[in-house]
Amino acid sequence: MNVTPLESWIVKRTGITHKSQEALRAYQLGKLCETLTYAKDKSRFYNARLNAIDVNAITSLEAFAQIPLTTSEDIKCNAYDFVCVLGHEVERIVTLNTSGTMGAEKRIFFTHQDLEATIDFFNYGMRCLVEESDSVMVLLPGPSYGSIGDLLKKALALSHIKCIVEGVLSDVDKTAQSIEEEGITCLVGIPMQILYLSKVKPEVFSKYIKKVLLSTDYVPDTLVEALSQNGQCKVFNHYGMTEMGYGGGVECECLKGYHLRENDVYFEIIDPITEKPVKDGVYGEVVFTTLNRQAMPLIRYKTGDMACFSHQPCACGTFLRTMEKVLGRIDNTLRINEHEIHLREFDEILLHFPDIVDYKLSLYTNNTLHVKLVCVNNNDSEALKKAITWRLREHLNFEFALIIDVTENEHSIKMTNSMIKRTIDNLGNKG
Ligand SMILES: [Zn+2]
Repeated sequence: MNVTPLESWIVKRTGITHKSQEALRAYQLGKLCETLTYAKDKSRFYNARLNAIDVNAITSLEAFAQIPLTTSEDIKCNAYDFVCVLGHEVERIVTLNTSGTMGAEKRIFFTHQDLEATIDFFNYGMRCLVEESDSVMVLLPGPSYGSIGDLLKKALALSHIKCIVEGVLSDVDKTAQSIEEEGITCLVGIPMQILYLSKVKPEVFSKYIKKVLLSTDYVPDTLVEALSQNGQCKVFNHYGMTEMGYGGGVECECLKGYHLRENDVYFEIIDPITEKPVKDGVYGEVVFTTLNRQAMPLIRYKTGDMACFSHQPCACGTFLRTMEKVLGRIDNTLRINEHEIHLREFDEILLHFPDIVDYKLSLYTNNTLHVKLVCVNNNDSEALKKAITWRLREHLNFEFALIIDVTENEHSIKMTNSMIKRTIDNLGNKG
């Protein structure tokens, strides 16, 4: 196993002289204090929020963990109050689709330097999986300036790696044709879409695709198994979100969790109830602070994602810590008859069936669960319904009514064609 390429990159960018956790934490503490001072000085939001905080008193990471958290709601309500630079210095504004109050949109701002920092991370992060002989296709938003596709293409160009930004999957035939024509060996995209492509075009997938990098959503184990069938394809996971500057961490060859972009982002994991840091190996909510962001630094931002730090060093031999794969959104649960079930439980049951490429769940007030399945072929939908009913009843061992529908595959792309993470439809109270 090769040591993650992120290690030498982080050592270089941080200037630490010892490859140790202590040296890296000392660098991060210094950067955290710089960020606090900068944000307090430049952003209206943090000027008010951190008013009572004496930055000189932050002499340890424990002291930093006492600083108030920032939430998604804070950004929705005050996006422009977060901005630390002048209007003309902002090179890209990303508006994220949010549910809830009309007019309260979540906007994330980047300067040129912020975007360059992301390109730098992508350049070294992609070296975890690709080399010069590879050809990469990006099935993520692009190619407009500053989009994730544009930044990845620029990053790969620095390593002389061919990259085609196809954009979010919309025409499977066209995409499969491009894979063949361009000799694509590596796909970067949204888990459910890559799964869809592999099930609809299995011959193209198994012939050409050797590596896959999944991003933007939680990745069920069953999906990784489906993609890596016959050992043909190696499946890497990336963790990131727009607020983080797109990139946050990527798996090394060991595929046991992400090594993190620790020169640019400081990660914590907290108990979602008490908001206190949890020990390594214990799952909690991922919280991050940006260390070098110009336009919109975020301090102790609550991601809503559930993960833990591994308590073991990675087998690749790096001194960097490992964050285990994100288990999904903390609030992505369905409450049926007083039982709480997480979206990933449905994933592991439903996506295990080879024909199923997507699904949608709705819950009605009388404890009736409606499962709408999207299949590659529905030749024998009665047998499939029977099998699913049996598996769901076995796993959800309590009373509830169940309706299962099977639909044609062409609708599935519309269901997942955005950067929004999948959610369970309507948490109760439907007609
Ligand atoms: Zn590793």
